[in-house]
Amino acid sequence: MDIQKWMEKIVYRLPEGLSARVFDAIKDIPLVRRAIEKEMNEMMGGIRDSIKPYAGKVPEFERMPERGMDQGAVLEMMEDIQNKESEKWEKGFVSGAVYHGDKDHIGFLNRVYALHSQSNPLHADIWPSASKYEAEVVSMTADMLGAGRTKDEICGVVSSGGTESILLAMKTYRDRARKEKKIRRPEIVVPSTVHAAFDKAAQYFGIKIVHVPVKSDCTADVGAMKKAVGRNTIAMVGSAPCFPHGVVDPIAELSEVARQKGIGFHTDACLGGFVLPWAEKLGYEIPSFDFRLPGVTSMSADTHKYGYAAKGTSVVLYRGSQLRRYQYFTITDWPGGLYFSPTFAGSRPGALSAQCWAAMVAMGEKGYLEATRHILATAEEIKSGIEKIPDLTILGNPLWVIAFASDRVNIYQVMEQMSQKGWSLNGLHKPACVHICVTLRHTRPGVARRFLADLNNAVAHVKAHPEQTGDMAPVYGMAATIPFRGLVGDMMTRYIDMLYSTR
Ligand SMILES: *Cc1c(COP(=O)(O)O)cnc(C)c1O
Repeated sequence: MDIQKWMEKIVYRLPEGLSARVFDAIKDIPLVRRAIEKEMNEMMGGIRDSIKPYAGKVPEFERMPERGMDQGAVLEMMEDIQNKESEKWEKGFVSGAVYHGDKDHIGFLNRVYALHSQSNPLHADIWPSASKYEAEVVSMTADMLGAGRTKDEICGVVSSGGTESILLAMKTYRDRARKEKKIRRPEIVVPSTVHAAFDKAAQYFGIKIVHVPVKSDCTADVGAMKKAVGRNTIAMVGSAPCFPHGVVDPIAELSEVARQKGIGFHTDACLGGFVLPWAEKLGYEIPSFDFRLPGVTSMSADTHKYGYAAKGTSVVLYRGSQLRRYQYFTITDWPGGLYFSPTFAGSRPGALSAQCWAAMVAMGEKGYLEATRHILATAEEIKSGIEKIPDLTILGNPLWVIAFASDRVNIYQVMEQMSQKGWSLNGLHKPACVHICVTLRHTRPGVARRFLADLNNAVAHVKAHPEQTGDMAPVYGMAATIPFRGLVGDMMTRYIDMLYSTR
């Protein structure tokens, strides 16, 4: 990581604003540019090995094989690959990612998928079952999130994931505001901890996003968000809970502000939609976050997270079908015929909706309650274990997504030490911290204890060897300084390029 040391000498010690300008001014000088390129290429070379572990080890196809391979051989090769990859998450070394993962559960969902693998909800005449499954997934999710306890109709659609649910909701508010209020420069007001999908929505749909800093307990600042609402604001957002620190925003107060201003309010319950209702039933103190609050006009809840369905489904819900209609697409003059679709995709995997329905029906209320009970108990164990490590502090008052930071050791180095022990945790910044998102994989005997023992050792190691910076710690360090943020952005772009490269 010479680039940082090297650039530090030039700009790092200047005040942030000035150093950003100095950096901007010099970074295009050919000599400087070449040095940066060289450093970046070296760093990316190191990353390549870790994201392309199969290079040279299994058959690779830059072109199609002239003659098709034997199906048995294809399967054998893919089983080999899959076996290598499943060990880590099966044994509970991964934060989030696989939320259920029991063999029986997966086997059941795979059978359902196989039954419906040809289904496409775009052709409701051929697969009316797809419409049944999706309507019921939406209805069951809405009921879980307070639909029965408001006089309004709560409706929605099945999407491909949390990001699509959020993009759809933001597009819906944009189009409603354009039609009903003639708003041409739409804005949304969000807490700074909201999921990146809202920034993506803003980029895609030409919406200005106003990030409002959260309070020291990591929850949204109601007063500051209220002040940020202007004439062009189409919606406010809160998370239940937020991805970084797992804390629930004050949705009751925020949604009331939105209601009084006559704008939309979206509760992002992608992460908590299938946990919080059950946690409440189990007696945990859960602040209101769902459609029981009259100001909440839309919600997202991910069936492919704690709904325990396979990846590829989520639900977006609306208060009233009038609002939902702004999401739809219809065209009457296409030479291809009368065409309509509820979401971004055209053809869609009906099998995913079918297995989502099957997961919900097979789990039932009791299954979700039990799962939630185990997850929250494991999270308690992990939280109290982290509290006992004097060099770490937990951010905010989380339930089962636990972020921890340190003002004595470099937390990214701690994360690297954990990686070396097999753990895959999430690095976060602003402020610098790391989190573990507890899933059913962590509720198995011994996993929480192993995590805490490894974490204790990782912190001790970093204290003893602060000079071993590793690979990722400096990159996070760079992202934290304005002059280098642009460089880190360039690196991410190159990273995506690399994911799609075969050589
Ligand atoms: C996971 C998540 C999302 C995005 O969901 P994807 O399924 O990854 O697209 C949005 N918001 C929160 C709070 C999340 O945890």
